[in-house]
Amino acid sequence: MIVTPGSVLRSLRAASVVLLLAPLANCQQPIAPAPSDPAIAAALAQVSPDRIHATIEKLVSFNNRSTLSSMETDLKTGTGVSAAADWIESEFKRISADCGNCLEVRRDDFIEPPQTGPASRILKPTKLTNVYAILRGSDPAQANRMVLVTGHYDSRNSDNFNTHDPAPGANDDASGVAVSIESARVLSKLKPPSSIVFVAVAGEEQGLNGSRHLAQLAKSQGWQLEAVLNNDIVGGDTTPGETMEDKTAVRVFSEGIPATATPEQARTLTNLGAENDSSSRELARSMAEIASTYMVPQIHRAAQGTPPGRPHSNLVQTTPAFHPVLIFRRDRYLRGGDHTSFNAEGFTAVRITEWRENFDHQHQNVRVENGKQFGDLIQYVDMNYVANVARFNAATLATLAFAPGVPQNVRVETASLDNDTQLTWSAPTGMPAGATYEVVWRATEDPNWTMMQSAGTDTRIKLPISKDNVVFGVRTVDSAGHRSIAVFPMPRRPPRSFIQPAQTQPSSPKN
Ligand SMILES: [Zn+2]
Repeated sequence: MIVTPGSVLRSLRAASVVLLLAPLANCQQPIAPAPSDPAIAAALAQVSPDRIHATIEKLVSFNNRSTLSSMETDLKTGTGVSAAADWIESEFKRISADCGNCLEVRRDDFIEPPQTGPASRILKPTKLTNVYAILRGSDPAQANRMVLVTGHYDSRNSDNFNTHDPAPGANDDASGVAVSIESARVLSKLKPPSSIVFVAVAGEEQGLNGSRHLAQLAKSQGWQLEAVLNNDIVGGDTTPGETMEDKTAVRVFSEGIPATATPEQARTLTNLGAENDSSSRELARSMAEIASTYMVPQIHRAAQGTPPGRPHSNLVQTTPAFHPVLIFRRDRYLRGGDHTSFNAEGFTAVRITEWRENFDHQHQNVRVENGKQFGDLIQYVDMNYVANVARFNAATLATLAFAPGVPQNVRVETASLDNDTQLTWSAPTGMPAGATYEVVWRATEDPNWTMMQSAGTDTRIKLPISKDNVVFGVRTVDSAGHRSIAVFPMPRRPPRSFIQPAQTQPSSPKN
């Protein structure tokens, strides 16, 4: 070949094309949003603010959904918590009928014993009912894997023992139940390989009794719950004059040190700098990524009419994308929620709540005082906001249900002092063909994963990055790009035979 300036230029161009076309998969790269799955996007487009309005309106119509009202015998027909439970069950069955009986609709009925102590909110044996519907996974190898969405359908007014006066509970928490039911409606047409559970629990206001029972049931029955999304107060307060509410933001609360950690385990996590990497927090990080795929800025076109002097009705206005704000604490001050029942059983669970709460419209008797309206009334719920929360939930549920299971036995080798990182893991049950592993990492002061590198189908990787300087996670991704939740690696010393004598280090650093 005769080398001329032109041929050099051509081969340089060809090389750069090859470089551009070379798969980036095995390189370190910034994390970009996963590709949108057209089936999930189509399901999200079905979320209906009108349907959500109808659900919340119906729940409010039961007058008072106090858990204690299940024991009353003088309630007007069609009111009280038991009538609400029956209606939720019928709604799940109606949705199931629309998808060829794709849902297993169940009731979890039980008697809650009275509580003792001055703060008791259940004074006599009380009937509780959780209602749930399971969309069973289509892959037998993965059907035991589950993601779950829940809200509480019980309500209260100023007096926790009041069972007769209005306690509309439109925001707290008919809004969360509406998210659960709407998610069931739009996702029931999908056939993910693993299962999705849609839940409405009672007893939240009495002490998380319903969720506790369901979490214990899940544990005793061996549900492989990989994510629990608790939606409580997701109405997007619309009180006139309220200027601090952010209709584009929703909070996601997650625990740091797991509730189930023993003091010794908590000490280990703290020593490792792992107090910010519980499975619940990794779920929250996944949710932020999923939102970046599906909750894109909304474009509003002028719906009708053309302003004078303009040839086309082409006004376009964008609003900021609806987005989660990750709050790195278990819950708000002075408050608790049903996710903690699942955390207490060792499950991965987060709480989803509107950006700014209005306490005049929670746990209040419906009344007007000095011209100010109190009470959890439907007029203060923004149906478009709840619809966005429902899309965010449905996107999370569907993505995780389509994604492979999380990598198992994720470990970082810590046999010797070095500046590299070696990670190992094993396949989850039912790892589908074409699925691969991804290592993700972030600077220790960063909230979310920022970098990634594919490991292909290997179950180990060595990276020239110091494990002391960043936080690593490992996750799976299927051939369509659905990413699992990342798993924080725990340290492991490899077998002695794996350690080269020259690399052997004293068991503890000298400094
Ligand atoms: Zn609540």
